Formats: sequence, C-alpha cells, structure tokens
Amino acid sequence: MEKTKAQDKILNTRLPSPCYILDEAALLNNCRILKKLQDDTGCKVLLAQKAFSNYDLYPAIAPYLAGTEASGLYEARLGAEQMPGKECHVFCAAYKEQEFVELLKYADHIVFNSPSQLKKYGFRAKDAGKEIGIRINPECSTQEGHEIYDPCAPGSRLGTTLAQWQASMTPDLIGILDGIHFHTLCEQDSDALAVTLSAVEEKFGTYLHQIKWLNMGGGHHITRPDYDLNLLKKCILTIKEKYNLEIYLEPGEAVALNAGYLYTRVLDTIQNKDTQIAILDMSAACHTPDVIEMPYTPPLYNAGKPSEKPYTYRLGGPTCLAGDIIGDFSFDTPLQEGDTLLFEDMAIYSTCKNNTFNGMPLPDIWVIHENGSLELLARFVYQDFKYRLGSK
Ligand SMILES: *Cc1c(COP(=O)(O)O)cnc(C)c1O
Repeated sequence: MEKTKAQDKILNTRLPSPCYILDEAALLNNCRILKKLQDDTGCKVLLAQKAFSNYDLYPAIAPYLAGTEASGLYEARLGAEQMPGKECHVFCAAYKEQEFVELLKYADHIVFNSPSQLKKYGFRAKDAGKEIGIRINPECSTQEGHEIYDPCAPGSRLGTTLAQWQASMTPDLIGILDGIHFHTLCEQDSDALAVTLSAVEEKFGTYLHQIKWLNMGGGHHITRPDYDLNLLKKCILTIKEKYNLEIYLEPGEAVALNAGYLYTRVLDTIQNKDTQIAILDMSAACHTPDVIEMPYTPPLYNAGKPSEKPYTYRLGGPTCLAGDIIGDFSFDTPLQEGDTLLFEDMAIYSTCKNNTFNGMPLPDIWVIHENGSLELLARFVYQDFKYRLGSK
C-alpha cells in the first residue's frame, strides 16, 4: 500500500486550527543529507537555532549534527541543555556583561563581532577554556534586493571589515583567536559561497594560516533539491586542505527546510470588486512574520498560482492590519467557510518568531512522527498573551 503523504494525513485529521505541524520524516531526510556532507568532507554542521528551535525534536536530529549555534544567551542555554554532549557555539553582535558571565556556563565556542568586543571579553573567555572566534565581513555581496538579509551591504554592523581589522587587531588579539567566522549568505547556492570564499581568501588569507577553524555561517540552502552539493564539497575540501582548517557550517533553514506545515481554516469569504478574499484563522503578521518581512509567498498544498486553477482567492488573516495577507492562490473549487488549508515549508522562522499582536492566540505545535502518528508538543492559552504585558 502506498504510504499516505503527511499532508493528506494531516488534512484527514480534524486538528484544532490554526496549528503548526512539524514533519519528523522530512526533518530527518534533511539531516541525512547534512550527515553525508560531514562524512564526505570532514566538516561539522551545526543547527542555527534562530531558524528552528523546537527542542522536542533535538533528540531525533542530534545524531546527525555536531551541535547548535546560538544568537545569544537564551539560545545557547537551550542548545546546551537540549542537545547535551554536543558543541554549543554562539555569535552575538555585542554581548552584555551579565549575559556574558552566564554564557560561559553554556557555550564552548564564542564568536565576537568586533575587535573591541574581542578585547573586552576574549581573554576571559580564553581563560575559561573557550574557543574564540571573530566574525569578519568580507564585503562581498552575493545577493540582490534583500538588503535586510545582506550582512555585506554598505554600512553593515555585522562582522569586522579588513580596514577595521588592520586598524584594531593587535598581535595579542590575533594571538588568542582559534577561528574566524563569516555569515553572508541567505537561501543561496554554493556558487555564492565560492565567490565569497575568494573574497575571504583575498582579504583575510594571511590570517587563515594562523587559526584552527573557519565557520562559514548559514544561508546555505543545502537541502533544496536543486542545490549544487558537489561544488559545496569542493569549496569545503579546498579551503580545509589549503589552510589546514576545521570547517563549520551553521545552516538554519537547510536543517528544517520543507519540514513543517501550518494548518488553518477559512472563517469567511468576501468580495471586493474583482478580488475574491478568504479570511483565515491564521495571521501572516502573527504566525508567519517572514511572509510579510522577507517578503515571500509560502507554498499551499493542492493550490495553484493565481489563475492557474479556476478559483483565485487572496488569503488574509483576521487581524486589523491591512497588509495581513499571505498571498493570492487558486483552487479547483470555490472556498467555503470551514474549509481547511495547509501551508507548507512552515518549520523555519515560524514557531520561533511568532507573536500575539492583536491578541491573536499562538497556534498549537504538533509533530507528525515518522510512523504517521500525531503528537501535541505545545498549546498556548490566554495567559501566554497576558503575562508578557505586565503585572510582574
Ligand atoms: C541567520 C544565521 C544563520 C542561519 O541562517 P539560515 O539562513 O537560516 O541558514 C547562521 N549563522 C548566523 C550567524 C546567522 O545570523
């Protein structure tokens, strides 16, 4: 018998809506690709938790990964506690004193954004037995039109440029470095990495000889079906051998790409002149903020692009925000109140980024296990909205 697709299984189960459903089998498929990359090249892959931090799944994915990467204290703590025995790396544009002291309990690799932060905290971190790195800015933009996702954009605060390095990196600071870190890509293929590596070598090549590891950040869309894995492997092996370096990658998206859904119901259908509109019980502004911020249109199971199928609708949320629109999609039959829809690729930058604007409830988080069974991981109530707003 053919295995029921996770999507059909979910649509045939009357789950409360809206809710996120993480797809364990899809997650593990991604992890197997990442494990093979590590086996083939000797590199280490970390999970960038800011994209995906549903820690109930950490025990399942941990065997395939070298550890976690954090954007600050709380994520570092989550990684250390929920993926015990694995590496715990952290990068933050600037650390606060009190946070830094606590961070030393959790992180084993600490990456600094500037020579001044390195000077302020680096020696203490070194004394505490930590591996120390600095983030560089190779000033090599490989993406267009997405300036908020481009750390190499003019005036960027992320990473140390060569000019800053030359002005401030004294020999004692260079001397305590174990590694160099860069993160410049966003949803890109390995050709962009190759271009970036040339810029890194041209500007910082001398220093690559003086360190142990190079962390090439995230933004590598490794698990996308058309991604050029061979070029990635070549990039890793070339740089690793030339400078005798250990190589880290810390993808977020690639770990959980296409490994989750957002299940929602139609609450109402309305018409404004030529536009047919369906109002859903999910909100783009609250539950899929990247749809508006990035912006992008998520895939919707069994739906087409506008006009591809006979009935086209604009799908929007119930909030007051005029721009709370997920996008325009087309369907085989007219939408009706109570119809259920399933947005795809919803495991990343969703559950870890949602909010309760307008007092919108947070959706449940479920997982569909490899054997097809569904399990509730988190449920939210009025108190989750209220406690963030006051009364001690
Ligand atoms: C965002 C980020 C990542 C992960 O990026 P993805 O695009 O999700 O792969 C990794 N490292 C750093 C420093 C980041 O800021």
